Amino acid sequence: MKSLERGTVAETRALVASGGASAVEICRAYLDRVRAVDPRVQAFRTVLEAEALAAAGRVDRDRQAGRPLGPLAGVPLAIKDVLCTRGANTTCGSRILEGFVPSYDATCVARLRQAGAVLLGKTNMDEFAMGSSTENSAYEKTRNPWDPNRVPGGSSGGSAAAVAADEAAAALGTDTGGSIRQPAALCGVPGMKPTYGRVSRYGLVAFASSLDQVGPFGRTVEDVARVLQVIAGHDPKDATSASLPVPDYAAALPRGASGLRVGVPREYFPRGMDREVDGAVRAALRAAERLGARVGEISLPHTEYAIPTYYIVATAEASSNLARYDGVRYGLRAAGSEDLASLYVRTRRAGFGAEVKRRIMLGTYVLSAGYYDAYYLKAQKVRTLIRRDFEKAFEQVDAIVTPTTPTAAFRFGEKVDDPLSMYLSDIFTVTINLAGLPAISIPCGLTKDRLPIGLQIVGRRFDEETIFRLAAALEAELKFRDNRPAVAGDR
Ligand code: GLN
Repeated sequence: MKSLERGTVAETRALVASGGASAVEICRAYLDRVRAVDPRVQAFRTVLEAEALAAAGRVDRDRQAGRPLGPLAGVPLAIKDVLCTRGANTTCGSRILEGFVPSYDATCVARLRQAGAVLLGKTNMDEFAMGSSTENSAYEKTRNPWDPNRVPGGSSGGSAAAVAADEAAAALGTDTGGSIRQPAALCGVPGMKPTYGRVSRYGLVAFASSLDQVGPFGRTVEDVARVLQVIAGHDPKDATSASLPVPDYAAALPRGASGLRVGVPREYFPRGMDREVDGAVRAALRAAERLGARVGEISLPHTEYAIPTYYIVATAEASSNLARYDGVRYGLRAAGSEDLASLYVRTRRAGFGAEVKRRIMLGTYVLSAGYYDAYYLKAQKVRTLIRRDFEKAFEQVDAIVTPTTPTAAFRFGEKVDDPLSMYLSDIFTVTINLAGLPAISIPCGLTKDRLPIGLQIVGRRFDEETIFRLAAALEAELKFRDNRPAVAGDR
């Protein structure tokens, strides 16, 4: 095998299980890699070195004692800092949660530990997962491993960059409107948002509860499938998690694309679209045809309303979810307040960044008496129309393919002062959350500046298997993994 920190999830687990390398050796190789490249990438908010080595040691002792090993035994993973980790800082990229140490694990985190995974640390993100570039983090600036002058995407930019830079074998992110798929596309790695309800949201710090979903980044489609396998499934602690059986995702991977009906929505290839993105996605669609898929045009007519609908629903839910940060219960408490009301005001003024404040105001406005019907209620109705567009399309096709993002990675500062242009980077991803569907982004090519281009595959509700089938077949055909990011060049 190549160096220890380059193996896939399955290779790494097999190496540990066979005794070819110890989990501690593998963990050290990743920690060395983090030390070497993270000063430039800044993917991690917190590196949990001692805890990771202790977890790896437990895996090695289990092996020596002949105890059964979990499906991710010894596999080093990174966790977005929006997921609660017992005993470890969870900041959500916000000052308001500075110093907050959860007393419990999110269910997905607990399941990873149970499966023997080694958690390397917490990754940087846009504050409360609001953003598309990770520039809204109140902390460090995460850089794109393909070009340090460009953003990694967001809001799970740290997780995407960590996997792209080989600082973790895989990572968890969350996706409310694109926050796994968009950074996956910009960093050139696969990343999946599962069906709403597939993965428990217990212990995920809520942004917009009807849209939020946890999902994996991996270096391969198989790695994404193997991590999803562990975190998916019903959780009594989350009433919205589905009580459906979880299929064997790895078994779906080799089934190939032959016979799949693939729909290409014309609304996702607008006039004036970036030529390199258009070209790469269309080349991938030709590859799908070579693999035996039947590709045809479809229409999702309400697509043009997706961005306004999303930004009403998401901000309305956020304004309510973020009411809990009051300086009393968690994290930051502003000093010098005379009474409770001024404690709230001072804490929230000091603790929240500009984008979060903008969204709380927007969300409060669309929910307020007199505006509720015109905005929030109307948005809920349009959301239903968007969902029906997909239901109709899935009567004719098994999967839908679109570009993940309108452009490849943009430069720092390019959009951060223009919220609308930032919001538009999610134009192809927010519809999927509004409809509650599963979707993956896989890399499908490079621009002439060597920046990754992402392709999105959308499936029916709870049909992640078909997505994995098509994604794995395209991955093998397109061979994107032969390309290496700039940050890898110095090793
Ligand atoms: N970029 C979108 C937003 O800013 C989506 C974020 C997300 O999926 N968490 O809301």
